Amino acid sequence: MIGGELLIGKHFQAGNLGGHFVVNHNGTVCTCGNVGCVEAEASTWRLPSLLKDHPEFDQSSIKNEEVLDFRALFHHAGNNDRVAKEVLGSNINK
Ligand SMILES: [Zn+2]
Repeated sequence: MIGGELLIGKHFQAGNLGGHFVVNHNGTVCTCGNVGCVEAEASTWRLPSLLKDHPEFDQSSIKNEEVLDFRALFHHAGNNDRVAKEVLGSNINK
């Protein structure tokens, strides 16, 4: 609400900056029942399956982590682990 008016926005999604904002129409089913929400594509609960689904997960250093969280992801990506880097989707060592 701004000035007593409901802020709608050009695409009727104003004010929705994350969570259940759809970013991938062909993505993963979310806990809310929708498909491809930010929550379902890049959240902490989704991260372990993103890593384990990578075809080279069993050869990666991050597989030895007890908890597959963003701390582990950034740590292993920083140590040039290919799986972590690809899941992170970055080129942080370039
Ligand atoms: Zn959702």
